Amino acid sequence: MPYLAILLLLLGGCARATLWDLDLDAEYDRAVTWIAAHEEGERMLMKRPVVFTTSQKEMQRISKAGPGRRIAAVYSRWVHALAFATDFDPSNVKDRGIAIHEVVHALNRRRPNLGACARSREVEPYRLQGLYYEERGTTMLREMGLTPVAVKELTTC
Ligand SMILES: [Zn+2]
Repeated sequence: MPYLAILLLLLGGCARATLWDLDLDAEYDRAVTWIAAHEEGERMLMKRPVVFTTSQKEMQRISKAGPGRRIAAVYSRWVHALAFATDFDPSNVKDRGIAIHEVVHALNRRRPNLGACARSREVEPYRLQGLYYEERGTTMLREMGLTPVAVKELTTC
C-alpha cells in the first residue's frame, strides 16, 4: 500500500478529537474569550487552572457521576484543575457548552459570596451554558435533557 494511502487511513481514523489533537490550552482560551464577551462588568483574573485530559472512567470518578454517564469536562475547585475527557469533541456543540460551564466555575473560584448555598454556584455556569446553546440555535433541553424547571432546581437553594 502506498504511504499516502496509509497516511490518509490513519488521519481518517483520527478525525474525532483524541488525546493527540485536542489542544487543551486553546480550548480553555476559547471558552474564556467567549465568557468575557458575554458578561457584564469586570471579572477577577484567575490563575490558569491545571488543564488535563483523562479517561471517561476517571472523569466519572472525579465528578462523582458514577458509571454510565458520559462526562465531557469537569472542574475541581479544590485543586483548581480542569479535566477534559479524552473523548471530548471540540466540534460538538454540547461538549463546547459543557466546557463553557466548567470554565465559568474555574473563573468563579475566588468569588466568596456567590449565594446562600452550593447550588448558587451553578447559576452563572448554567446561564452562560444556556446562552451558548441559544446562540447556536439549540437549547439546554435538546443538548442536556434539562428543562428550564430542572435548571431552576439545580440552581436554587
Ligand atoms: Zn456546575
